[in-house]
Amino acid sequence: MIYETAPAKINLTLDTLFKREDGYHEVEMIMTTVDLNDRLTFESRKDGKIVINVEHNFVPSDQRNLAYKAAKLMKDKYQIKEGVTISLEKSIPIAAGLAGGSSDAAATFRGLNQLWEINDTLENLSSLAAEIGSDISFCIYGKTALCKGRGEVLTHLPKPPSAWVVIAKPDIGVSTPEIYGALNLNNRHHIPTEDCQRALNDGDYELLCKSLGNSLEDVTMGLYPEVAKLKNTMKNSGVDATLMSGSGPTVYGLVQKERQAKQVYNALMGCCNEVFVVRLLG
Ligand code: ATP
Repeated sequence: MIYETAPAKINLTLDTLFKREDGYHEVEMIMTTVDLNDRLTFESRKDGKIVINVEHNFVPSDQRNLAYKAAKLMKDKYQIKEGVTISLEKSIPIAAGLAGGSSDAAATFRGLNQLWEINDTLENLSSLAAEIGSDISFCIYGKTALCKGRGEVLTHLPKPPSAWVVIAKPDIGVSTPEIYGALNLNNRHHIPTEDCQRALNDGDYELLCKSLGNSLEDVTMGLYPEVAKLKNTMKNSGVDATLMSGSGPTVYGLVQKERQAKQVYNALMGCCNEVFVVRLLG
């Protein structure tokens, strides 16, 4: 039996550059990892089947599950006869902008790489992962990276200065295609990607706080006013910086002390059910 954890990611930046001929948006984003994890176990099966065990109303346990897709791709690519039972314990909120499904898929690539004794490099797994989802390549490594292309072209970056992250998800799910569909590239504002990169290179927490930015934030907030309201509550609760992650609706805040994180947590508990206090892992 193999165990893997699948950590959530947050966006420190997300910039949408232009729409490509293949229909995807060319993006530039800096993502990092937080200590909020799904847990997966992998058990070999003789019958060659891929079976997903997950008890969650909004997570499919069939071929639509990203962990299933990852396992099928590994099985075909490396011509594996064995099967696998994948048991998934979800803690990362669903359809939240935290890449929960992508991280489960990435954990599946890593887990099966061991279980089936494939022993391929993370670099090769990361390229293969791009076939089934744009964020999975990043999630193969976790850590911190500048992600370009559809998100699959990675430049590794130093981990962020130590901080607490308060993560709050309003009680709505947001579909990423819906948000990209409503995006108007003529309304783009400057996203300080280079400043954020400098903050990481210099370990500069203050600059990091000033350089958070997400060009999807206004789009999601236009469609879902509760996200703007949550960000306001987060700002007023004493965080050093706050941003929506991915296409939302999750909003996070950064603070340096655990005591502050608890204060922010208490301020937010009234407005949404899913609030977490975690560490930036990077
Ligand atoms: P991203 O930040 O990459 O856009 P997300 O956090 O917005 O991801 P997910 O939680 O990954 O979104 O899930 C989006 C949809 O994918 C869900 O509605 C769910 O039906 C489907 N899905 C497939 N596999 C999984 C999985 N292993 N965990 C969660 N959702 C999954």
